[in-house]
Amino acid sequence: MRIDRIPHHSIAIVGGGFAGAATALKLLDRTEVPLAITIIERREELGRGIAYSTPEPVHLVNGPAEIFSLHPEDPDHLSRWLVEHGLANGWTPPAEVGSSSPPRYLYGTYVRDELARAVANARLGSTLRHIRSSASALVAAPSRIRITITDGAVVEADEAILALGAFQPRLSEAESQLAGHPRFAANPWDTRALDRLVDCDEILLIGSSLSMVDAIASMEARGYRGATAPYRVVASSWKGAGPSRRRATFWPMAHCRRPRASCCHASRRNGGR
Ligand SMILES: Cc1cc2nc3c(=O)[nH]c(=O)nc-3n(C[C@H](O)[C@H](O)[C@H](O)COP(=O)(O)OP(=O)(O)OC[C@H]3O[C@@H](n4cnc5c(N)ncnc54)[C@H](O)[C@@H]3O)c2cc1C
Repeated sequence: MRIDRIPHHSIAIVGGGFAGAATALKLLDRTEVPLAITIIERREELGRGIAYSTPEPVHLVNGPAEIFSLHPEDPDHLSRWLVEHGLANGWTPPAEVGSSSPPRYLYGTYVRDELARAVANARLGSTLRHIRSSASALVAAPSRIRITITDGAVVEADEAILALGAFQPRLSEAESQLAGHPRFAANPWDTRALDRLVDCDEILLIGSSLSMVDAIASMEARGYRGATAPYRVVASSWKGAGPSRRRATFWPMAHCRRPRASCCHASRRNGGR
């Protein structure tokens, strides 16, 4: 078995989506001791996770840019970044950029780039490395934490942070029976499955919240017209409620003086999406 030893004050973060990347960048920006941070994340890019990996420009963040800054002490940070980088990334910033909702892929680029900035300016020679793999086991040995990754290698660290995100829901029995049907899309972000639905007369959407908005925006972007004008989409949900308006408030970022996993957690705006 290969043992991969990380120098002291080492932190392993399992999951490099929004929370993992935001935690790493805050640690790098604020640490008072040298850190060796390892992020174990199977995706190629850090900071995207499920929400910000979508390539579709019609999938927007669910609130105004002014509440999505990675730096609560500088609420306009994201707005300025969007003005500076939006165009180069395929998005034209509107005049009131702070009150606009940018595409989610662009927000993922912002998180990724902010993490790269934190690595470049890392305090006290701190480092970050990304291991592209999945963690399959974690054992808390007396003084170290040992994390087994896909190829059987073990990553050792002084502390570990789990930032695994939400797991994919399992299909119900009824849905499983439909799984291979060409007119069924089990995942509203499966671009190929949505392509197959463009010439349907009518669409039934199960669920009526923000993923429904993503699905309708994706179908419109594909030119979906349905059989009637205006076209008909039926959305069903056990709650019978549509998406609710987002509160324009910040969730504070935890401040961490010492690099202890137990006192670090990223701002997470999940809100039961
Ligand atoms: C489609 C969608 C849209 C959303 N839109 C918004 C929005 O507009 N605004 C908002 O505030 N919130 C939104 N959310 C909620 C959003 O998921 C959270 O705000 C936030 O991005 C969650 O971050 P996270 O790091 O917890 O999870 P994620 O960003 O999903 O990251 C988890 C990461 O862990 C990795 N991982 C999991 N298990 C392992 C393992 N064993 N080994 C290695 N890596 C592992 C995964 O690959 C993934 O990259 C959305 C969610 C979804 C699903």
